[in-house]
Amino acid sequence: MNIHTYFGSHGFPLVAVIDLATLPTHLTALMHAVPLAQYKRLVLTAHGGRSLWPKLQVNWPESKDPVDTYSRSVMRRYVEEHLIGEESLLLYPTQDYLIPLQQLGTYVGWSHPSPVGVGIHADYGLWFAYRTAFLTTAELTPTEIDLRPSPCLSCVDKPCLTACPAKALSANAPIQLDPCLNHRIAEESSCADRCLARMACPIGRDAYQYDLAQIQYHYTQGFEALKTWHLRKKAAQTQLDEDRGRPF
Ligand code: SF4
Ligand code: SF4
Repeated sequence: MNIHTYFGSHGFPLVAVIDLATLPTHLTALMHAVPLAQYKRLVLTAHGGRSLWPKLQVNWPESKDPVDTYSRSVMRRYVEEHLIGEESLLLYPTQDYLIPLQQLGTYVGWSHPSPVGVGIHADYGLWFAYRTAFLTTAELTPTEIDLRPSPCLSCVDKPCLTACPAKALSANAPIQLDPCLNHRIAEESSCADRCLARMACPIGRDAYQYDLAQIQYHYTQGFEALKTWHLRKKAAQTQLDEDRGRPF
């Protein structure tokens, strides 16, 4: 089965096959601990839009990281059933390797910087995420790089900026994490389980914005750890400020 058909049928419509012989040195340098020389292709996949969520609901993996567990099983089945006799190595999701996913996504043309702090895709907008990366000795046909420009360049009104109640976003600077997190952890926050700025972006919104259940799942995953980190950081900063103001 065609690799795009296989991964698409499992909720990952974005598939990039990269010929390792053409991978730029700024990317190979970031993967110096990965045995690239033993393989021919790097395959990157991502979910985009709403197609992944119903598939997960049908067979929700009993695991601490169900989306990663599902992704690994989809990748392994592809390798076992369609790359018979070839060597393959999972790079993501696994603890074994640190992979520059964002940079790879930028290289293949899937992702451009956006004011919201997550990459934006020309079709899927802000509604996509990397799911697997693996190496293979199979000489799969490389995919073409998506050369379309960032949708943000032609977005005149930039509704994401005005939708952010914490005023944490601006067109030409990275997201300000402190005001964003202060707002997210506030009582009855309008951003406790969603990012209003992300939801206001018109790119791909009608066709690809996740259903609310999926948005809430992704936004609440790991939120308690983030909240604890942010509160500790704030407490440390307050202590530092008090110490600085104390007379000798
Ligand atoms: S609303 Fe416009 S500027 Fe903001 S992320 Fe979407 S396309 Fe980019
Ligand atoms: S989560 Fe809320 S506060 Fe943070 S960037 Fe999004 S809209 Fe702004």
